[in-house]
Amino acid sequence: MSVVVVGASAAGFATAEGLRRNGYDGALTLVGAEPELPYDRPPLSKQVLTGAWEADRIRLCRPDKAIELGLDLRLGTPAAGLDPATRHLALTDGSVLPYEQLVLATGVVPRPFPGTDGLRGLRMLRTLEDSLALRADLAPGARLVVIGAGFLGTEIAAAARTLGAEVWLVEPEPVPLGIAVGTAVGEFVAGLHREQGVHLHTGPAAAVRDFKVNAGTVEAVVLADGTELRCDLAVVAIGSVPATGWLAGSGLTLGDGIECDAHCSAAPGVYAAGDVASWFHERAGIRVRLEHRTNATEQGLYVAKALLGQTGEPFTPVPYFWSDQYDTKIVAFGLLRGADEVRVVEGAIADGEFVALYRKGNRLTGVLGVRRAKSVRQWRALLAAGSGWDEALAISPK
Ligand SMILES: Cc1cc2nc3c(=O)[nH]c(=O)nc-3n(C[C@H](O)[C@H](O)[C@H](O)COP(=O)(O)OP(=O)(O)OC[C@H]3O[C@@H](n4cnc5c(N)ncnc54)[C@H](O)[C@@H]3O)c2cc1C
Repeated sequence: MSVVVVGASAAGFATAEGLRRNGYDGALTLVGAEPELPYDRPPLSKQVLTGAWEADRIRLCRPDKAIELGLDLRLGTPAAGLDPATRHLALTDGSVLPYEQLVLATGVVPRPFPGTDGLRGLRMLRTLEDSLALRADLAPGARLVVIGAGFLGTEIAAAARTLGAEVWLVEPEPVPLGIAVGTAVGEFVAGLHREQGVHLHTGPAAAVRDFKVNAGTVEAVVLADGTELRCDLAVVAIGSVPATGWLAGSGLTLGDGIECDAHCSAAPGVYAAGDVASWFHERAGIRVRLEHRTNATEQGLYVAKALLGQTGEPFTPVPYFWSDQYDTKIVAFGLLRGADEVRVVEGAIADGEFVALYRKGNRLTGVLGVRRAKSVRQWRALLAAGSGWDEALAISPK
């Protein structure tokens, strides 16, 4: 058999390691758009951005490991096209790789702000190179506008404040992270940032309307209500888009990501894993695509087993993510978006230490905690068992 993995990052590397760990000793090619060996992204908006960690610390794979795994590395050569019928993958350097099994793990790319192509002073953050470049410009006193108060935007704001930059965080929703974790937790996050001196602008009036540009460089971000935020630098953090453009015309179903079945298979001989994969989560009963670091590894390992025929089970993980903002760690299990109710069952939001449960219909769908990581973990089993809401409340401390 021959296996080609496209995307040399968390999910792609986990697949490669999983294949070897589970006894696969055939040809294994890892294709990557970036020139780097796989590295970890979460520290890019945290320890690498603040300078607390050297870039070398985030390597997932060193050259000796790649040799040990027998990887045929094609780094710095993005895949350009796929023909699943003949099982051939084309790379941008003109080479064509035949495969028997293919794994697509191309992740996501930052969503650009419309009409800003080529503007200087406007950044996005996805790669190590982006993080190091942003870090270099965040001197104490530098004026930074962060556009978008999702996880990425709030983490960038926190890191920049830690470095002594003057930070404006703008978000058209009423609170930061509101869509992801609900209003009450979002208000808590807003408080964290205000306490640290971030200038927070939220709600429709804070939607970015325009940029003031001088000789191709952004000088100010203009909000819907006319407020002008003068800046040395702005970062766009308004979400991301699955990296599937190169698959147009391949015949794969591309919706919000590469659409797979419950076993992460997109077509005969083609699997997907990580941020780019949209699959049917049988226990949740819905199609899911996660941008969580832990899922990238879990799904990569699952796909390795699936393509070796070592699991017949569908992929039904309990999603997990975390976020670090200043000295506050937020951790969560499950699916939190679109909850009908968020109920604090331990501690209190006002004390900055709590556990909240998320309900959709009559089911427990998620749990989130601040400074209560151990308590949060105790709810994982209940989520894995598909617990009802009343059952969960019956055992909650409140
Ligand atoms: C700054 C930052 C902070 C984060 N913090 C957290 C966190 O605190 N907690 C958390 O749970 N998650 C976090 N995440 C999300 C987490 O990093 C991702 O879920 C994880 O990286 C997904 O791994 P992946 O391998 O699926 O995709 P990616 O890491 O995006 O890797 C995809 C790889 O595929 C390559 N590629 C794309 N197109 C092609 C092509 N055509 N050919 C070849 N290669 C291609 C890309 O260049 C990239 O190297 C963070 C992400 C970022 C960017």
